[in-house]
Amino acid sequence: MAVKKVILAKPRGFCAGVEMAVDTVERALKKYGPPLYVFHEIVHNRYVVQDFVRRGVTFVQSVDEVPAGARLIFSAHGVSPDVWQKARKKGLELLVDATCPLVEKVHREVRRYVAQGYWIILVGHRAHDEIVGTFGEAPERIRVVGNLEEAREVNIPDPEKVAVLTQTTLSVDDTREIIETLEQRFPRMVTPSKEDICFATQNRQDAVKALAREVDLVLVFGSKNSENSNQLCRVARSRGVPAYLVNDLSEVDPQWLIGVERIGITSGASVPERLVQEAADYFAQRGAQGAQLGLVEENVHFALPAEVA
Ligand code: SF4
Repeated sequence: MAVKKVILAKPRGFCAGVEMAVDTVERALKKYGPPLYVFHEIVHNRYVVQDFVRRGVTFVQSVDEVPAGARLIFSAHGVSPDVWQKARKKGLELLVDATCPLVEKVHREVRRYVAQGYWIILVGHRAHDEIVGTFGEAPERIRVVGNLEEAREVNIPDPEKVAVLTQTTLSVDDTREIIETLEQRFPRMVTPSKEDICFATQNRQDAVKALAREVDLVLVFGSKNSENSNQLCRVARSRGVPAYLVNDLSEVDPQWLIGVERIGITSGASVPERLVQEAADYFAQRGAQGAQLGLVEENVHFALPAEVA
């Protein structure tokens, strides 16, 4: 049985933060030319990173890897104050901050709560670049909680003075459960007035929930190290639909398509649209009808850093 229908989720792909970060590197390349250094992958997508590498950008994991006097850009995921300090001390040039403003907002919240004497529970994945950066704002006052079990066990020196913050790209549903558990344990815990999971994450997860109701299988385009792409896959599966995370069309296993008539496609916030279009075209050329399932129109844009604007 052939695939009869392909439905694309909307919104999908690049979010405002990724657009800004990718544009920052593009503009810096144009203005200054290579070599250019970026601290961590500018966004978590293999194709975006490889394309920049071809054009003379080097991605580093540590400031030590950057030669003195070189130009350095910080990725969309944000970095801790000690990385800034190290880079300045080393005399690096053009320190451009491509941190998404919504990640920067969480950094500010950490500083504000710590200044008020709070302990912070940071919900997220310890090893993720974003959490490494946020944690670095106040390592001695932050406890990272990655799942429900850790939420049940986390110890806080002063349980009366706790604030909770989260990574911006988590599953909305799982995070709600973790925060409810924390609220039971720390009834006086404070949360920021507006939640940290960003609008783009929320919109893409809502769209994949709607998509899952209409299809037999969901393909999520995204890299394995992209948190929000992984979450889209989990959200679809939580709705009882098989879902697979793939870098591109070549990774789609024909076995997955056996007995499948309607495929849903979405992509993580760091994924170029051409990868989705390539898949949509492939199925269209084999007779599948195309459709789009849209929930909201995203019209958010973030200003470029002054150094490259
Ligand atoms: S997913 Fe959200 S927080 Fe992350 S870069 Fe995009 S807009 Fe910013």
